[in-house]
Amino acid sequence: MTAPRRPRLVLLGTGGTIAGAGTAAEAGLSAAYRSAVVGAEALVAGVPALARLADLRAEQLLQIDSADFTDALLLRLARRVAELCARDDVDGVVITHGTDTLEESAYFLHLTVRSAKPIVLTGAMRPATALAADGPANLLHAVAVAAHPSSAGRGVLVVMNEEIHSARDVSKVHAARLDAFASPHGPLGLVAQGAPRWYRALTRPHTTGSAFDIGALDALPLVGVVASHGNMRAEIYDAWLALGARAIVHAGFGGGTVPEYLKAPLASLRARGVLLVRASRAAAGVLVRNANADDDAHGWVVTDDQNAPRARLLTALALTHTQDPLAVQQIFDCY
Ligand code: ASP
Repeated sequence: MTAPRRPRLVLLGTGGTIAGAGTAAEAGLSAAYRSAVVGAEALVAGVPALARLADLRAEQLLQIDSADFTDALLLRLARRVAELCARDDVDGVVITHGTDTLEESAYFLHLTVRSAKPIVLTGAMRPATALAADGPANLLHAVAVAAHPSSAGRGVLVVMNEEIHSARDVSKVHAARLDAFASPHGPLGLVAQGAPRWYRALTRPHTTGSAFDIGALDALPLVGVVASHGNMRAEIYDAWLALGARAIVHAGFGGGTVPEYLKAPLASLRARGVLLVRASRAAAGVLVRNANADDDAHGWVVTDDQNAPRARLLTALALTHTQDPLAVQQIFDCY
């Protein structure tokens, strides 16, 4: 009897803490290290058990701290993942990524890569040289999920700390703890005994069902985010307009509230063609259209349950189809 073929996966290295290392003097102090120094091949070599799960080929796409991701790099990542997924000799892709902006890259891939093959992102909260590094186990679990046939067609997945999250929902919610990632509606599943177990499925479109096509895009439309706080200044919104932003995500208080003193300046911005998208600075919650502001009268959009960083990306993709607030609203309600 011939042994079953191991799934052929590509590990795409992009940097981050999972590829981080401290000096000997710093070993064990997980806050003191440089990210993005260990290569993708070395990450694979560091976890021999990976070979049992998959035929894994390492490719170094980037070697950066994920804070340095730009829209141009996001487009590059999405194009490379799409190319790999289109190949007959690739069954899935695992991406190692810094945790700081992992949720943005994952969501962008979720909306733009037209493939049902498993695409799994993972990272680490501690560098490879820490006393109890979490990267090796996260990598093993990410590969176990990407190698498993049940992971296909679920959209882009984020595997951290034995949980499997949907790229639609997951956020980094803690700056240091190992359980730094959470989804407001819970993870889709868990990794147990080296295999995925699923408890939920996503109802919103993604990957093969997404309407967004980045094939012909040179750049993403510029969308700014303005965070709410006491004593805000209208000039910040004008600065985004001056930079060429076609939309601004307002990460408002609670239900996305816009202070009274900003309403006139924002109306003037709207009159100059800038779309205002109301999000919340709170960690979770649904924003209901026309509930705490007259969105119809202002020509504003609300983000449903999306946080501001993901709302920025969905707005940019929406702008490649339409500038009409009601059409953009439908996109938020759908995705
Ligand atoms: N501290 C970050 C991480 O967890 C660094 C980065 O995002 O690249 O990976």
